[in-house]
Amino acid sequence: MSVNMRFGPYGGRYVPETVIGALDELTEAYERYRDDPDFLSELGVLLGHYVGRPTPLYRARRLEDAWGIGSGLWFKREDLCHTGAHKINNALGQVLLARRMGKERIIAETGAGQHGVATATASALMGLGCRVYMGRTDMQRQRLNVIRMRMLGAEVHPVDSGSGTLKDATSEAIRDWVTNVDTTHYIIGSAVGPAPYPEIVADFQSVIGIESRAQMLEETGRLPGSVVACVGGGSNAIGIFRGFLDDADVALVGVEAGGEGPSGRHGASLALGRPGVLHGSYSYLLQDPDGQVAEAHSVSAGLDYPGVGPEHSHLRDIGRVTYVNATDEAALSAFLECSRLEGLIPALETAHALAHVRDGAAALRDGGPVLVCLSGRGDKDVDQAGAALGIDASA
Ligand SMILES: *Cc1c(COP(=O)(O)O)cnc(C)c1O
Repeated sequence: MSVNMRFGPYGGRYVPETVIGALDELTEAYERYRDDPDFLSELGVLLGHYVGRPTPLYRARRLEDAWGIGSGLWFKREDLCHTGAHKINNALGQVLLARRMGKERIIAETGAGQHGVATATASALMGLGCRVYMGRTDMQRQRLNVIRMRMLGAEVHPVDSGSGTLKDATSEAIRDWVTNVDTTHYIIGSAVGPAPYPEIVADFQSVIGIESRAQMLEETGRLPGSVVACVGGGSNAIGIFRGFLDDADVALVGVEAGGEGPSGRHGASLALGRPGVLHGSYSYLLQDPDGQVAEAHSVSAGLDYPGVGPEHSHLRDIGRVTYVNATDEAALSAFLECSRLEGLIPALETAHALAHVRDGAAALRDGGPVLVCLSGRGDKDVDQAGAALGIDASA
């Protein structure tokens, strides 16, 4: 089976000549191993016994009541994955591919640090050297994950350029890869980047959607009316959406970072951006009037990115997925409500999806059960959210 290089007009490979060979090598490895019984069984054992899959489907009854969602509110519990978010599904798959390609060194970029932690974890497990690029701003707001990565034996490399966030870390990781491509595999953490990355990441994350679809049928006897996920680069969203793309009656909703609102700084690439090229791929992105990439902003480091994966751009254009956004403020209040009413402290990224469910409840409610991808847990966010919400540890 061949690998998707484009999604409608989006995707492709806008990269220096020196990495085309490595992208071809990765494409070949992926084509060879994606259906290989040994590869799938090694990955399957790790997902089952190391990550903790299948993750449960949980009915959030107290939020249902509080938000008036009579048709049912269900969480796909990716927060229960080892390392605390969906990122490990992709990191393990790619590390297994890297080992089969004979690579001895792994590099990655990270925003919130979840992809860095997942990659450091998978690299430790496989005995591969690991360097993670992370913006200085993100290192400050995600201290816990910086320490975790270092404990796991990864080298965390601070990036001072630009705004010191995910975009800058990604540029730096690409630079490293161009120089060390023979020995190094670059694990991209979201469904972004040059082909074949968006397809590979979506495929490794599609386990979320495949499990959810079967679990919804088992628990409720029907498909959800709507599926809601937050969108940074778009990997947890495409992972859950892929389970339902062919179910025309299931509404799919992606929630981007609304930041300070439409007239302030934000990360809503699909709602407020235009197509252009960033990090090797053609997709919607935030640009200034001259076409320069604009800085994104979000309270959550994982959504603080001016681009988005090419498959989402295509799904937006053909109208299969609706993309909305939630502001920092809405996400913070949903973060607290979920913590207080369900005893689940969600990641700030995830809280954007929850905010939309709360604020758009009327529109979602009539279609049937609402399924939310609970992409990760909020341990990493307690310092930052606590400061914003006035909660601290002093007497
Ligand atoms: C990284 C991250 C995201 C955003 O990345 P996507 O690729 O859009 O999924 C969302 N939620 C959590 C918990 C994350 O760690």
